[in-house]
Amino acid sequence: MCHGETVEHRRTKILATLGPASMAPENIMGLIQAGVDGVRINAAHGSPADWREQAKRARHAADITGRAIPIVFDLAGPKIRLSPNVETRAIAQGEEVVFTSGESGNGAIEVEWPEFAAAATPGVSEIVIGDGTPRFAVTATEAPLVMTRCERPGMLGPRKGAFVTHSSVGAAALTEKDLGDLEVAAEIGVDFVSLSFVRRAEDIDDLRDRLRGLGSHARIIAKIEKLEAVEALDELVQASDAIMVARGDLGVEVGAARVPLLQKEIIREATRAGKLVITATQMLESMVYNAEPTRAEASDVSNAVLDGSSAVMMSGETAIGAYPVEAVQAMDEIARAAQAGELFHRDITAEPESAAEAVVQAAVHLASQLNSAAMVIPTRSGGSARAAAKYRPSRPIVGLAENAAIARQLSLEWGVIAGTLPSYPRSVEDLVNDALWSARSVAGLRNGDRVVMAMGRFSTGSGNTDLITVRRIGEAPPPDHAQGIDPTFG
Ligand code: PGA
Ligand code: MN
Repeated sequence: MCHGETVEHRRTKILATLGPASMAPENIMGLIQAGVDGVRINAAHGSPADWREQAKRARHAADITGRAIPIVFDLAGPKIRLSPNVETRAIAQGEEVVFTSGESGNGAIEVEWPEFAAAATPGVSEIVIGDGTPRFAVTATEAPLVMTRCERPGMLGPRKGAFVTHSSVGAAALTEKDLGDLEVAAEIGVDFVSLSFVRRAEDIDDLRDRLRGLGSHARIIAKIEKLEAVEALDELVQASDAIMVARGDLGVEVGAARVPLLQKEIIREATRAGKLVITATQMLESMVYNAEPTRAEASDVSNAVLDGSSAVMMSGETAIGAYPVEAVQAMDEIARAAQAGELFHRDITAEPESAAEAVVQAAVHLASQLNSAAMVIPTRSGGSARAAAKYRPSRPIVGLAENAAIARQLSLEWGVIAGTLPSYPRSVEDLVNDALWSARSVAGLRNGDRVVMAMGRFSTGSGNTDLITVRRIGEAPPPDHAQGIDPTFG
């Protein structure tokens, strides 16, 4: 482990999607060693057997590397598709095409969603296929038929995604398949669940109820990829634990040109509310085939870091690409380069929402004023470490949780180096001493390094952060359970 003051910790986290490219026994380990902070299982592909295997290997690799690596389980959600019978064919500009949610006849294109015609409003809605083309203006509807004119040429094909923009009815956020997959997620013990095509806060509340019913403590990521979600951003940010700027499907809905600004707005909203925010999709897309990113991709990752993303995500790059480890290395390097510059804003001021948060904010200021090596935050629920991340502090946050699941969840938070406390502390002074010793090994701090600690007395539960203390690493002898630790380590 590197020394706290000689090597900067990367503040922006890296989330990598697992897939065939990352499944060889040594590969997940390779991804973690290259800098991955969390892995994503994408339920839109593969089977429960695949996901169980991915989870098993990820946990195993995390154990061996001694890292707290969370698993994000991404529900496929209600992606509307063309039927498998649709023939592959090119559609020309201006061509009139009829879609149907009923039986295909007279050449109508079959869509697998009974409410398709009800969802489309003539003169307002567009039908968008696949990643953006072909695109059709809706001219008339007569259930189950939707009459359209092609505005942008492209290819139709079996099972391609079919979107209705400005949809007046929404498919249920959780499909039958999602409900089944959720049970697998709970069984695996995933740390986050992300919900695709979210439209309303109730979708999030419903998912949370179901997760708790299955005994899962997973935190919920709302994927912003529909116009309705953009419009309901406020309530979605409030209802969820985290937000994903899902640029792939979002770009299909709103057009690629609007994505960059929406990304900035969504990140600003989420960070102001202290919510984790992930920027996703096509970040290093060309690395699916090439060992080096394009300049445009490097700029994109760098800008996502400067925008304040808690984490940047890779999809095909690590799931099916030819260079998964190189892609992680590239992302790591670009993120580090971005945070070294003056444009990387830190020590954001925001209104604290509670007394506990105000204490954390004061600790952030103090750590910056004293130019301390780190902030050290023992936390039961993870709340106070997350509260510190909200202010994007200049000093690293060492978040020390009582249990490993909370540590894994903290691992994706901006600037948080996550670890666990070795024992249940008996008094405040024990808590301080335990945390100092844990921080030393978790964050590679050295004896004599000054740290600012913010904490509550563990005995009184969570949300009670009421103490700040300035300490030095190694100031007291190691607690009994740490006696075995080599005092020259670090
Ligand atoms: P997906 O979500 O990869 O699950 O589709 C991300 C996106 O749409 O950008
Ligand atoms: Mn998507």
